[in-house]
Parts: sequence; C-alpha cells; structure tokens
Amino acid sequence: MDSGPRGPSGTPESGGKPPNWQEAKTFYDSLAPKKKPKSPKPQNAITIAVSSRALFRMEEEQRIYKEKGVEEYVRYQLEHENEPLSPGPAFPFVRALEAVNSRLRELYPDSEDLFDIVLMTNNHAQVGVRLINSINHYNLFIERFCMTGGNSPICYLKAYHTNLYLSSDAEKVSEAIGEGIAAATIFSPSKDVAVPQSQLRVAFDGDAVLFSDESEQIVKAHGLDMFFEHEKTYENKPLAQGPLKGFLEALGRLQKKFYSKGLRLECPIRTYLVTARSAASSGARALKTLRSWGLETDEALFLAGAPKGPLLEKIRPHIFFDDQMFHVAGAQEMGTVAAHVPYGVAQAPRRTAPERQAPPAVQ
Ligand SMILES: [Mg+2]
Repeated sequence: MDSGPRGPSGTPESGGKPPNWQEAKTFYDSLAPKKKPKSPKPQNAITIAVSSRALFRMEEEQRIYKEKGVEEYVRYQLEHENEPLSPGPAFPFVRALEAVNSRLRELYPDSEDLFDIVLMTNNHAQVGVRLINSINHYNLFIERFCMTGGNSPICYLKAYHTNLYLSSDAEKVSEAIGEGIAAATIFSPSKDVAVPQSQLRVAFDGDAVLFSDESEQIVKAHGLDMFFEHEKTYENKPLAQGPLKGFLEALGRLQKKFYSKGLRLECPIRTYLVTARSAASSGARALKTLRSWGLETDEALFLAGAPKGPLLEKIRPHIFFDDQMFHVAGAQEMGTVAAHVPYGVAQAPRRTAPERQAPPAVQ
C-alpha cells in the first residue's frame, strides 16, 4: 500500500470501488485550506499602514541598495527570498494589534471593528515574495500589500482610510503629517526590553502629539514661566487637536467594546499620557482637554521636565510617540520602541537641498 493520501471510493486512488459521496466530501473537505479570518473593510477597520523596514530589519539589504544600486538589491532579495527577515521595530506592535483582534473576534464574531494592517512599501514587486514569505513565517495576518513602485504612499494612505502610518523614512512621514494623516518615524530600541504579549500598550506625549503645539509655541517664544501663567489662565479652554488624537480615539472605541463585556480591568488595550508638563501648574489643561473630547488615557504621567526614558522602561509600551527627537532618543536608549511625530514648533528646520543627494531609501 502507498503511504499517500487515501482517495474516496470511486476515484482513481480507490482502485475502482463504487463511489461513496459522503466519503468523497470528507476527503475533499480535508484538502480545503484552513479557514482564515476575513479582513475588515477599510472604511470600518482601524487601518495601520507599516513600511517594510518598519516591520522587518533590512539593514544589510538597505546597505546593498545604497552602495550597489537597485539591480544588486533586487538580486540579493531574490537569492534570499526563502530566508525570513528579522523582526523590525514595528513588529511587536503589529503582533499586539493582532492579539487584540483575536480577542475582539472571540467577543464580537460579526464585527468589523478591528485593526487592519497594510504593508505599505515602495519596494520592487519582485521583493514582495520575500516579504510574503517573512509574513507567513511569523504567521502575521497581513492581507493588504501596497507596493507603490517608488511613488509617494500618500494617495494610497488616503484610499485605505489610514488611521496610522509607521515608516522608517522621515520624509514620507513628514509628507503624510502635512496631509493630515497620523504618522510617525519609528526607531529600533538600543536594547531589548520584553513587551507584554497579551496587552497592547501605547504611550503618547501630549503637546504636539495628542494636542496641537499652541502651548509649546508659548514656551519657545516666552519661556517656561509665561507658559505656566498661560496654561493657568486658559485651563478651561481645550487645546486644539494634534496629529495622533484620532488614533487615541480609535483605541478608546475598541476599549469600550471590552468594557461593555465586563473587561475593564483586564482590557487588552492600555493607553498612557507621558508628558513633560507638571501636574500642578499645567496638567489640568491637558486632562480637561481630553475630557472635553470624551477621551481619557488609562494612566497620565506628568514628569515636570524629568526624562521620559526610565519611566517608559517600566511601562514597557509597544510604541511611544513624541514630537521631540530628544525624548525619542531618551526612550530608545532605555529599550522603548519610540516613534517621532514630525509636527509643530519643535521640529528642526528642514534639510537644505545639497544634503539630499542620496537616492530615495527603500521603505
Ligand atoms: Mg511634545
């Protein structure tokens, strides 16, 4: 007897016995692929677009691209297409989003209120096979690929109703922010800190991230004392919204779905406000602004100018957003995946043309 799959009666494998249709059905059902969950429609989902270099580490590939050009780069990727890429800075975040999705699917089997992850890359289509192999290797659920062939991702981000765009290309991120899309440049931490597997943790700076930069402008123009005075005077006037407010809102919407199933304490999403404001002098305006939007963070940490890195090391978020590179670098050094939101008065002046001679990076 052969050891291959046993065919149903009546098929050539059965040796000519009369057909048994029930047996045949069972046989063919066993060949059917395992049922995968369906992707939600973009207009219903919370869409997170990540670039390939945010999701996977591609330093060696990037070096080949820069030093030897696109042909060598594509050749290298083809030669290594069965070798999965290592996880990049956005990987634990994407994993945590998927963990939240599976809890939501258990609780609300018919709902499309889910995260949907889109891989947004300007890579050559041939490199797509290595990316697909890597995604399958780690069992990630990423069905939407957008290979822009070197074009700007902006129109695709809009078409996908993107709620958050993460990339390692600061220029593309600035372009997205300029178009009103929540976006951040993501950095790998300098050391590895284990992040929770069963709870998504997201930490936000306040000014120029959740809020507009209007108060930060006061600090820059008139100093801290005037800022404290100003915030006290306008304590009851909500700040305008910043680029990441919509993402906090989306997280809050999903949190409520867990709360309504009695899971407030064990909610698999936890949010943090980590601000340099001090509680006594300028904290109230931040909290009252969130309240005026019907939003809250689970924890609010007012550091009064103290470094954010040590505190973030304790929180162990999957991602931390800040508009100031100083805080991003401090978080990164202490093992936090930090993402820079290029928005507001704190941004360094744009680079001048002569420095921008390098070919556009692969995202
Ligand atoms: Mg800020």
